[in-house]
Amino acid sequence: MAKYKIEVIAEKCTGCLRCQLACSDLYSKKFNPVSARLQVIFSEEDECTILFTDDCIHCGICADHCFYDAMVKTKKEVNL
Ligand code: SF4
Ligand code: SF4
Repeated sequence: MAKYKIEVIAEKCTGCLRCQLACSDLYSKKFNPVSARLQVIFSEEDECTILFTDDCIHCGICADHCFYDAMVKTKKEVNL
């Protein structure tokens, strides 16, 4: 499977959680953002932070599901 570097453009994130739902559905067979391998966190100032967990395999599926260009993926040179 190809692996991707995923750049987060936090100011474009709307908090829709489509990325988390896509990852959760694919890898945990649950439609639950909490089960995803990334977490979208908003501060009280509405600033978004996106954290990838240690079990993220850099597949880029979450970025494919972002309608708002808040995640941009670049293919890594080496497939592991
Ligand atoms: S890159 Fe893949 S495994 Fe990692 S958070 Fe996104 S969908 Fe989940
Ligand atoms: S990164 Fe994209 S898909 Fe994920 S919550 Fe933000 S806007 Fe939605």
